Amino acid sequence: MFKKILIANRGEIALRVIRTCREMGIKTVAVYSTADKESLHVRFADEAVCIGPPPSKESYLNMSRIIAAAEITNADAIHPGYGFLSENAKFSKLCQQHNIKFIGALPEQIEAMGDKATAKSTMIAAGVPCVPGTEGLVTDITVAKKEAKRIGYPVILKATAGGGGKGMRLVWKEEEFQEAFDKASQEAGAAFGNAGMYMEKYILEPRHIEIQIAGDQYGTFCHMSERDCSIQRRHQKLVEETPSPFMTKALRKKMGEAAIKAAASVNYEGVGTVEFLVDKDRNFYFMEMNTRIQVEHTITEEVIDYDLIREQIKIAAGIPISGLNYEPTRHSIQCRINAEDPFNDFRPSPGKITSYHSPGGHGVRVDTHVYAGYTIPPNYDSMIGKLIVSAQTREEAITKMERALSEYVIEGVNTTIPFHLQLMQNEQFRKGNFTTKFLEDFEIVKPKV
Ligand code: ADP
Repeated sequence: MFKKILIANRGEIALRVIRTCREMGIKTVAVYSTADKESLHVRFADEAVCIGPPPSKESYLNMSRIIAAAEITNADAIHPGYGFLSENAKFSKLCQQHNIKFIGALPEQIEAMGDKATAKSTMIAAGVPCVPGTEGLVTDITVAKKEAKRIGYPVILKATAGGGGKGMRLVWKEEEFQEAFDKASQEAGAAFGNAGMYMEKYILEPRHIEIQIAGDQYGTFCHMSERDCSIQRRHQKLVEETPSPFMTKALRKKMGEAAIKAAASVNYEGVGTVEFLVDKDRNFYFMEMNTRIQVEHTITEEVIDYDLIREQIKIAAGIPISGLNYEPTRHSIQCRINAEDPFNDFRPSPGKITSYHSPGGHGVRVDTHVYAGYTIPPNYDSMIGKLIVSAQTREEAITKMERALSEYVIEGVNTTIPFHLQLMQNEQFRKGNFTTKFLEDFEIVKPKV
């Protein structure tokens, strides 16, 4: 087992990893930018190394500074968390070259899944159902137009290097195609430094359902059932739950098998997530595979009583997994608490938290790095915490979430708490009637004071 793990991340996930390391008797090293000097992950780790100024490029994305921090502290492994370098093949390789175990996928596995068009071709070859679309990239507009006609409108143009809900453009009819194509490739080039695009059929009103999987170094795989992440705003997840209210036993079995097939086709090792779109007839299509821990891994942990970070560390250390598939035995929901103003188009709201009271009680979990007096820096994403509940049934979980949200006090900045409260009270949500389109028509009512 590893003696010391460096966590190449910040915020709640850095703290989350430190906690498991402590339980496993593994020492930890935090790295931080000067903007995060007062962050809890710095205080909770056994050692901490400042790796640069606030901009991510000069700190959390600076590979040589992170490797140097691992070397001077004698860390024998690096946990990348999510975002930042977690799906960076070059960084995974750099760790190998420095004899430091990267607790994540191998460079060739990240490469196989990182480029979305390549990943799709690999999945088609492996027999995993994919959204109908182009094989490989579309470069020529005339060919692309023909392809769009063949696939059938509406189609969606996607940047092969895209991620985080960015780099996608929907085209409803042929007349709009030229302009959409030009704009999409321009945007992809500017945002990701790679103008490559592929195209697929736009599935109307789908659900986003993903399967958590794990694979060890000996070719054994298992799945840990699904997470429904259909509650999204501009393709970004806001609420996740498991089991999905749309799931059936037969569909779970089929999707679980497909996810394992996807992971096995690239000899995947570690924990990972295979994302699918599911249409109203319960046909499912591979979208992408994330070769890292996800923000929403918590709800899976709650329903199958399993520490996924511990599992990642064990797999990286060469410990075999059982190969058993897991079914949820409870219901869990996570709300992402962002420093954003839900009454103002979710505008980011960084600043100082003047007062903080976190909810508690049976079945309530809060994963966060913030506290009263903490200043949210403007340099990173706006997520300040995750509120997770679990209960015997979906109905009880929603009621518990409502109760927990109403106890949660964060003052000094705006947060998404009022949005989540209104969502939990929405009749359609409570019935489980929602797709990825749900929030487009959802009106957030500003309370009168
Ligand atoms: P990212 O990597 O940026 O998260 P994804 O490919 O996972 O992008 O897609 C993000 C979201 O965009 C999905 O959850 C879904 O809501 C929507 N989406 C993507 N592809 C399609 C499609 N072919 N049809 C309908 N919606 C889609």
